[in-house]
Amino acid sequence: MKIVDRIHQRQEEGRPFFSFEYFSPKTAQGMINLNDRIERMCHLSPEFVDITWGAGGSRPAATLEVVSNVQKVLGVETCMHLICTDNPIKNIDKALKEARACGNQNILALRGDAPSGQKSWTPCKDGLPSATALVRHIRATHGDYFGIGVAAYPELHPESPTLEHDLYYLKQKIDAGADFIVTQLFFDVPKFLDWVREVRRYGVGIEVPIVPGLMPIQTYAGFKKNVVDAGLSVPQWILDGLEAVKEDEVAVRQFGVEVGVKMVRELVESGLVAGVHFYTFNLEKSTRLILEGAGLVPFIRKDKPWRTHFLPHRRRQ
Ligand code: FAD
Repeated sequence: MKIVDRIHQRQEEGRPFFSFEYFSPKTAQGMINLNDRIERMCHLSPEFVDITWGAGGSRPAATLEVVSNVQKVLGVETCMHLICTDNPIKNIDKALKEARACGNQNILALRGDAPSGQKSWTPCKDGLPSATALVRHIRATHGDYFGIGVAAYPELHPESPTLEHDLYYLKQKIDAGADFIVTQLFFDVPKFLDWVREVRRYGVGIEVPIVPGLMPIQTYAGFKKNVVDAGLSVPQWILDGLEAVKEDEVAVRQFGVEVGVKMVRELVESGLVAGVHFYTFNLEKSTRLILEGAGLVPFIRKDKPWRTHFLPHRRRQ
């Protein structure tokens, strides 16, 4: 089933959804571990599961193996990422054919980052020049079969000079046939919500669902690398809270869960998004604790593990 249809269904029911992203592993043992972890996490009932496409197209077989396992064996809806970087059209077509054969019906169509060792992005020989071109290609070769998601950047894509430039090309991706948007991770919820309003106001309006990407803070080093060094804006209370516990791994994870719970609640209560998407970094615990804390999945009671209960959760207006 297409993700966009699942999102609309959940909106009609007034029940916020959540989804998980995993990156494909490099080794056979990594594949076993990841499949076990995804299976456990699928007991939480994510709306869909994303599998990334290794930059440089280095491990397409691993991406497809995880997609096949989640879609066919676990019966959970998948979204396969597909990029243009170092990925000639014939490889793209092969991947789409194989994804379809696994029962996958959703693609996140991306340009990809510059090939390693190159400063700026250039298409590969016999490849496609942008995410827009990839969306067009999928529609031209597979019609309406796939639901197609595209990426968006609440704090601008690093190559975009202005918000206007970013939104212009985002709109092109939607006009080419994309039917939902997944965002880059962020930590400043009010700023994100302002961006969503800007997207909705842009031109004749971008009306497809916008799925906010959240990264649970699992280590101080990971937060510094993926968030601070990437120049993303972070509210002062988060910076101060992390600074106070940065030497204590457990306390960092606990604080990360508190941050995640607060963000999920604020996003869901805003009424501007229908659910949340977790960049799990292939880890389980923090994502699960955030979902429990925000009342989106039942708590597993430690004293009576056979009993579960939901945290009170305010419905959208
Ligand atoms: P595009 O939409 O093509 O845009 C890239 C830049 O070019 C933007 O600044 C845009 O404004 C500009 N632009 C677009 N078209 C034109 C044009 N015609 N003329 C001038 N400027 C133009 N990378 C991976 O390698 N594998 C993954 O699995 C992966 N998953 C991701 C998932 C999400 C949710 C996100 C947000 C990113 C992901 N990425 C992944 C990273 C992504 O590939 C990079 O951020 C990449 O630099 C941009 O991809 P895009 O699809 O947004 O590109």
